[in-house]
Amino acid sequence: MRKTIIPAYGLTLALTMALSAAQAASLQEAAKALGVDGVKTLEFSGSGRWFQFGQAPNPNLPWPQFDVSSYLADINYDVPSARVQVTRKQTIEPGRLRPAPVEQKPDLYVSGAQAWNVAPPPNSPPGTAAVATPQPAAVEERLAEIWSTPQGFLKAAFANNAKSEAKGADVEVSFTVGGKYHYIGAINARNQLERVRTWIDNPVLGDTLVETSFGGYKDFGGVQFPARIARTQGGHPVLDLDIASVKLNPPVDITVPQIVASAPPQTVDVKKLADGVFYLTGGTHHSVAIEQRDHVVLVEAPLNEERSRALIGKIAELVPGKPIKYVVSSHLHFDHSGGLRAFADAGATIVTQELDKPYFEKAWAAPRTLNPDLLSKSQKAATFQTYGDKFVLNDGSRSIEIHKIAGSGHADDISLIYLPAEKILIEADVYTPAAPNAPRPTTPNPYSVNLYDNILRLKLDVDQIAALHGPGVVKLADLRAAIGQTTN
Ligand SMILES: [Zn+2]
Repeated sequence: MRKTIIPAYGLTLALTMALSAAQAASLQEAAKALGVDGVKTLEFSGSGRWFQFGQAPNPNLPWPQFDVSSYLADINYDVPSARVQVTRKQTIEPGRLRPAPVEQKPDLYVSGAQAWNVAPPPNSPPGTAAVATPQPAAVEERLAEIWSTPQGFLKAAFANNAKSEAKGADVEVSFTVGGKYHYIGAINARNQLERVRTWIDNPVLGDTLVETSFGGYKDFGGVQFPARIARTQGGHPVLDLDIASVKLNPPVDITVPQIVASAPPQTVDVKKLADGVFYLTGGTHHSVAIEQRDHVVLVEAPLNEERSRALIGKIAELVPGKPIKYVVSSHLHFDHSGGLRAFADAGATIVTQELDKPYFEKAWAAPRTLNPDLLSKSQKAATFQTYGDKFVLNDGSRSIEIHKIAGSGHADDISLIYLPAEKILIEADVYTPAAPNAPRPTTPNPYSVNLYDNILRLKLDVDQIAALHGPGVVKLADLRAAIGQTTN
């Protein structure tokens, strides 16, 4: 027997070439198994659980869970566009006081660079017609959901010159969509796509990992698809579905509504509640600017940097020459804290309940490569002022009290803001005044009942309530009426 001595580099080269062929084969085989070439549109439906991202009742808890009785996704990969219709109901955590769950039926769309929801306006009477509402902040997430389906990922892999490399027993496939969004998938030894990772921007978390895993591939009437889809976003589950049926190439024609294509820019409307106290509305989430002797205190920096820029511009008009020294955050929920970073960049101290500071510090240290914001560019260090139950901002002429709302089921960190001299109470999410023609709820909202209990406990003398959601400022009597407290 003749011995052949293979030089080390020769062996390495031979192995690399063999592996490359296998890797390429595995991407091709995975695509062949899923019939990717013949898939233009796809519909899948199932049931399971959905979790509300960014709405944990405590910074140390996962996103709250909803039971999903029906989930129907229609995708057109060519546009790309998608519609997702969900029927869901919140699962109440043991020991947490929440409103009785009502069935929600969100109807969610994305097409190209537009995203929108179709629903009756919030707090409208029953029977009100559904309208399309632009959701520009949801575009990234919804497109990521299209490319995080097995067929979608493999289509995108071919369209974007994916790279394959061996990772343990798997082949890792990676590519970048639109020069920006990075995707990494894992194909197992059976040529099945097991996992997709991608990142989207979030105003609180920065580059946010969205990880989707697939299990139990089987034939659904002529198309291979996983029987189970699970997704995490920002470190906690957001979706957990058992797939019941899949349709290959159903008609999926999604037209962008005119109202969405021409979405208006941010507007800030002003209502003066007292001398130097300005209620700032115009969008879905309101704020209150309070003029002190030599600075401004802003209550609430909601949504995102775009909203903050609009608020900063309006405050400079209302109170020229005074810096925004403090921004008070009602609670951590992302729709209420997404604009804070812009104010930290502007030099404001963030006043927040002590549960939130460690969360912000960790989240704000994450990379922000997808959408670098003002604070990531300036590299300024954010300053926090925390409190347990109570904090007072007083410049010698006006007092602004911040009280943690005891026992609120909505969030463990949620606080109310109270101006004793002006008898103004500011709160978010625990009491949203109804639209003028809306019927009174048959059951009082427990968050609002709890708010009223806190007003009594703290002996607050309240005249106006500047709610941070809803149609406008109301009186204490309106809160009392909403919870059925019409007499003493
Ligand atoms: Zn909230």
